[in-house]
Amino acid sequence: MQTDFTATRALFDIPEGLIYLDGNSLGPLPRAVPGRVAQAMQAEWGQMLITAWNNAGWMEQPARLGDRVARLIGAEPGSVTLGDTLSIKVFQAVSAALQARPERKVILSDNGNFPTDLYMAQGLADLLATGHELRIVAPEAVEEAIDETIAVTMLTEVDYRTGRKHDMKRLTAKAHAAGALAFWDLAHSAGAVPVALAECGADFAAGCTYKYLNAGPGAPAFIYVAPRHAATVQPALCGWLGHDAPFAFEQGYRPAPSTERMRVGTPPVLQMAALDAALDVWDSVDMADIRKQSLALTDRFIAEVEAACPDLTLVTPRDHASRGSQVSFAHPEGYAIMQALIARGVIGDFRAPDILRFGFTPLYIGMDEVERAAAILAEIMATRAWDRPEFHARARVT
Ligand SMILES: *Cc1c(COP(=O)(O)O)cnc(C)c1O
Repeated sequence: MQTDFTATRALFDIPEGLIYLDGNSLGPLPRAVPGRVAQAMQAEWGQMLITAWNNAGWMEQPARLGDRVARLIGAEPGSVTLGDTLSIKVFQAVSAALQARPERKVILSDNGNFPTDLYMAQGLADLLATGHELRIVAPEAVEEAIDETIAVTMLTEVDYRTGRKHDMKRLTAKAHAAGALAFWDLAHSAGAVPVALAECGADFAAGCTYKYLNAGPGAPAFIYVAPRHAATVQPALCGWLGHDAPFAFEQGYRPAPSTERMRVGTPPVLQMAALDAALDVWDSVDMADIRKQSLALTDRFIAEVEAACPDLTLVTPRDHASRGSQVSFAHPEGYAIMQALIARGVIGDFRAPDILRFGFTPLYIGMDEVERAAAILAEIMATRAWDRPEFHARARVT
């Protein structure tokens, strides 16, 4: 398949003139979403009411959409389900791994991981109160830190700040060789880079659908459980929809014999409808084409910005194999510079303490936008246009 990026771009509703380089944080609105959500509200909720759980397939949504996401992350059919938020799914996956390795006490992560993953793991260790330790090392030190004490590696494949990408296959193999399990957070991977969970032998994975999958703010997270574990892992949160027979209303919890056991409560049906429509975009997309174009876009942005902005320091790896689909530069006035860019119609974001972050998504970003964004950034740096009081005032979300 040869992906037609002119065609995919036409599937998105992006304000005229805006250069949107923040799809890694909140993907833009696919044109098909409002109609699909309106249909779910009016034709399903409005007309079918409670019968829609059966007749509009609401109850199967998490598994059906899980299979659509599975194709994008190299997962086996039936191994992915949707619901809750990524923070919750991290908790469930790490907890399941710890229960599968009761004789081991260490969760290994790195200091580039997103804080919520670290907080959830520490909170879980505290809750268990059975001597678990969250061990945090530098990303480059992960491989040598994997030893026989590790119960589970908890790694985010692509670093949210720097865009540095771990070698999933190599680290998963290393974890297994040491008798540990491997959990991968795919927040900045799903829809951004090709992922091969089954081929890499990952045990668990999770990610969100509001970033590169464009399902909108509050869209549900996904969780992957390798089929070899699906009938035995403990789901930690024993909600009724993870039960083998929710409508038998049994007194005791008996988990479903599949990834469905990671479901908890009632799914967010309207957000799932948005996700369903957003996933249609991917039907004509080959992840290998996405990767090739993403590297071309990020290479060009790095080259143009480095040539014109000597004060910005690249923190994203130059090596293709170690790069996700974003480019980040450090500058002490990064926040103000980003506000000046946003005022000029180039939307990226800022991550404390000093990082300007730009996400590149070939679905709707082309080479012309990369060049225009780099030129606007160069002008802002050369003229110090960022140094105005309004650009220094910090908002709640950066
Ligand atoms: C975006 C992101 C999250 C967000 O978690 P939510 O529960 O969806 O708010 C978690 N982990 C990583 C690595 C992320 O990049």
